[in-house]
Amino acid sequence: MPFKVAVLPGDGIGPEVTTEAIQVLRSVTDELEFDECLIGGAAYDAVGKPLPETTLKICKESNAVLLGAVGGPKWDKIEPPELRPEVGALLPLRRELNLYANLRPARIFPALIDASPVRFGPSGPIDCIVVRELTGGIYFGKPRERRDNGEVAVDTCVYSKIEIRRIARRGFEIARQRRRKLHCVDKANVLETSRLWREVVTEVAEGYQDVDWEFMLVDNCAMQLVRDPGQFDVILTENMFGDILSDEAAQVTGSLGMLPSASLSDPRGDNVFGMYEPAHGSAPDIAGQGIANPIATILSAAMMLRFSFDMKEEAEAIERAVSKALDSGLRTLDLGGNAGTKDATAAILANLA
Ligand code: NAD
Repeated sequence: MPFKVAVLPGDGIGPEVTTEAIQVLRSVTDELEFDECLIGGAAYDAVGKPLPETTLKICKESNAVLLGAVGGPKWDKIEPPELRPEVGALLPLRRELNLYANLRPARIFPALIDASPVRFGPSGPIDCIVVRELTGGIYFGKPRERRDNGEVAVDTCVYSKIEIRRIARRGFEIARQRRRKLHCVDKANVLETSRLWREVVTEVAEGYQDVDWEFMLVDNCAMQLVRDPGQFDVILTENMFGDILSDEAAQVTGSLGMLPSASLSDPRGDNVFGMYEPAHGSAPDIAGQGIANPIATILSAAMMLRFSFDMKEEAEAIERAVSKALDSGLRTLDLGGNAGTKDATAAILANLA
């Protein structure tokens, strides 16, 4: 039976880059069936809500989700904020699908080393993965409100041991599949939630004696990512710190247009349910011009094959084809070249053959 993939193209360059990723997926496997649904501003315009019930239902009935991006200036001022694409679609989608583990690899392709804004330190080029807790912490904690006639604002950071334990296990499992090194990043000198993270991560680590791990404060980690990014293998961290550090790590690789991501739930039978999307947003400034770099979405599709469908060889074939295309000179506009979206896909497909 084919695997079902819900495709949510979304806004801006989202539809352009998801089309390319589907083309690449189709060229390596005929075991996937795609079902396209509305999300984000496009859904708001069509049916008055950024996350229609039918979209959520189709996602829940699928084996994986491929998302483009949502949002744009057209929908930034909609009231109430719950109807805006990011707040009204992305956050509830993550919550409803229980996508608590966000994986953001930041690796620089050899052909692009000169594109990095940092000079690499003693440990060499960046090749790390941020394992970010995605459904807890300050983005979801209650109360979130204004008080005293709007003069005071409150956000709340909450974590339970269960939430920390499951993401910590994911982090250590991933470290085992990589270079067996893990930094658990927090602000334990100030935050109670960070001290709970330390307690739980120390317990979980006992089951992973083969992984070399340590705690690091988030401010130090932000600095080390610029000073010597090659020292990191797995960065395990909570929701907001992961949001910020993964963007920083992304930028060290040179372009946001290259970086994939996976947000995973628990296994369903033999498969892990996940949502796969590029690390970048909807890039309204270049939407509709055929110049978006589709590589981040194509590499997200490769992550889908690896994590949700256990198609490791097909995933590696796509990653190799991207690397070879870059070696042979493929450069989209964001990488300083003049290849368009379709040219990039064509170069990757040529290297797949
Ligand atoms: P962005 O990532 O969309 O764009 C930042 C810059 O990078 C822009 O100059 C853009 O042209 C460029 N860029 C991004 N992706 C590119 C690609 N594939 N190829 C070439 N250039 C690329 O971030 P932003 O401008 O801060 O946000 C734009 C909109 O996207 C906002 O509405 C924001 O809320 C939304 N957003 C959505 C998601 C998501 O859907 N997961 C994530 C981030 C931002």
